[in-house]
Amino acid sequence: MSRTLDILLFGPPGAGKGTQAAALAARHGIPHVSTGDLFRKNLKEQTPVGLVARGFMDRGLLVPDEIVCDMVRLRLEEDEAAAGSLLDGFPRTLPQADALEGMLRRLGRRIDHVLFFDAEDEVLVERIAGRLSCSGCGAAFHRTFAPPRTQGVCDHCGRNGLSVRSDDNAETVGARLLEYRAKTTPLLARWQGSDTLHVINAGRPIAEVERALALAVPARAEA
Ligand code: AMP
Repeated sequence: MSRTLDILLFGPPGAGKGTQAAALAARHGIPHVSTGDLFRKNLKEQTPVGLVARGFMDRGLLVPDEIVCDMVRLRLEEDEAAAGSLLDGFPRTLPQADALEGMLRRLGRRIDHVLFFDAEDEVLVERIAGRLSCSGCGAAFHRTFAPPRTQGVCDHCGRNGLSVRSDDNAETVGARLLEYRAKTTPLLARWQGSDTLHVINAGRPIAEVERALALAVPARAEA
């Protein structure tokens, strides 16, 4: 029987998690579960979750734990996630990490790898300032470092609708970094010193980060 695989992408906003996530998930045959993307989808569809989340997202604050955890629980229970998941942007607080461990335990799984995207603040600010996102599939681009093949058009879904995320402005980015430092960085201590944690120097060019990720979590050998 093939083993399940649950990977976390962990790190500050702008570190490049979203840029690497889709390819990494595809390589391992697991779904990319981004809580930020799930909230943006809910927002677009004007669901109750989306409307509540908007008030927090617009201010760069974390959405309350119960809302995030319920959303992730439902996603992990879907058939598509039966073999594992690539969690991007979750958990971001200690209670979320406890909840995730409980969810996975009930499914007979555990966190296999934590990929910590480590980058200096100047890099984060520069990346967020040039970031473009597809309003259709959520794919991330950068004006300088990862431009789309055709200006304004998403390479992945073909939609002509690349735009700047509403929370990618200087004020909100400052609040997001503060939230990250106060509530998310304490999580690192949980994995420090264990084989689960891989520290990735995410300040390097995209292709180099991609190689470091492939080395950290090699593709599973065929059973
Ligand atoms: P992201 O796309 O990961 O940068 O997330 C965008 C926004 O969604 C964050 O600034 C939060 O407001 C919200 N969000 C995403 N993931 C979480 C989470 N795990 N916990 C709380 N809020 C979250």
